[in-house]
Amino acid sequence: MNRKNKDTGVTRRDFVKTVGLAGLAVAGAGATGALAAPEPPAAAAKAATVPKRKLGKTGVEVSILNLGGMFDTINNQLLLRQALKWGVTYWDTAESYGNGLSEEGYGRFFARHPEARKEVFLVTKLVPKEGNLTERLNKSLKRLQTEYVDLFFIHSLTGIEQMTPAFKAWAAEMKQAGKIKFFGFSTHTNMADCLAGAAKLDWIDAVMMTYNFRVMLTPEMQAAVNACAKSGIGLVAMKTQGGGPGASKTASKGELDMVGRFQERGFTDKQAKLKVLWENPHIASLCSQMPSLTILSANVAAARDQVKLAREESESLRQYALETQADYCAGCGSICQEAVGGAVPVNEVMRCLMYFRDYGEPELARQTFAGLPEAVRQRLTAVDYSRAEQACPQRLAIAQLMRQAAEMLA
Ligand code: SF4
Repeated sequence: MNRKNKDTGVTRRDFVKTVGLAGLAVAGAGATGALAAPEPPAAAAKAATVPKRKLGKTGVEVSILNLGGMFDTINNQLLLRQALKWGVTYWDTAESYGNGLSEEGYGRFFARHPEARKEVFLVTKLVPKEGNLTERLNKSLKRLQTEYVDLFFIHSLTGIEQMTPAFKAWAAEMKQAGKIKFFGFSTHTNMADCLAGAAKLDWIDAVMMTYNFRVMLTPEMQAAVNACAKSGIGLVAMKTQGGGPGASKTASKGELDMVGRFQERGFTDKQAKLKVLWENPHIASLCSQMPSLTILSANVAAARDQVKLAREESESLRQYALETQADYCAGCGSICQEAVGGAVPVNEVMRCLMYFRDYGEPELARQTFAGLPEAVRQRLTAVDYSRAEQACPQRLAIAQLMRQAAEMLA
């Protein structure tokens, strides 16, 4: 796994922007984890630890910031220890992260620190592909060096119809066997529909979904989140920075204004993007890739901070979301896939581009792209995307982006 991963917190681009705005001359403070761990700012560290919220009907209090495991957990054991020390006690991973290496890193930590297992709310996920699900869960537990996970997600749901009664029976069996405590699914495609459907299933305990300052604005998503909350489904947000598949551009004036406004209040725009999500009490926890102590520290400081965003600050985020709409793929895959007759899972390819460009994770991007069926990769540039472009609510230049994906990720 690539250690240069970045998701939330301070990125090199942000850092350069920040330096530019503040007129400071600081160099070399990237987000690669080579720095000593800065303590979260004292003013922000009023609470002793990261606050907790109840995860819906599970009744479990989980840390509002959770550690996304899509990084080199094997070689970042000290970072895991620091996360725990700062109160990030919800840890997320998946079989597919580094082909099991992420789970293995967590497992090594638990082997070294057995007392930590009780403290950590541990989550893993499996994509329901070929192979026996129970056998694969057993392998995950072995890698994690634990008897059980607190929460298990079926990974990457694209439609609620995939939550068949067979999963209901399997979840009950695994709970009975003591291998999982709670059950749900993750989704970054057609999220609003998946959530709205989940709200009608009384056997879904929790859902992890793409949710950020862009997605939260749509009425469909707002209604779906409210429906889940009403049904007692615990909600966990991921892809919280709202990064898109488009090429990195020079920051616009609107973006610089927004960054400057947050700076005056003492936080970065990355931190503000987390804060605006925590303001929704229905969101129990935010998942964040924090592969360096710099990012971990910045996010922990934001989680501990009691300062609420002012109305004009939330508004500036909303404006920024609208201005940069065409840079973001909203995951409404059913729209574009239908428009191309199912030939290409466009939003899956967009996600690969996002890993490449926004996360700075070429290895992960190529690995995810390689996981798409070969026939799909072959036909990527041969498909007519004009109807999809017309139907796309974000007005993305789909054909151009698919060409770029074929060039960069093959
Ligand atoms: S490309 Fe457009 S229609 Fe397709 S998932 Fe992304 S935003 Fe939705």
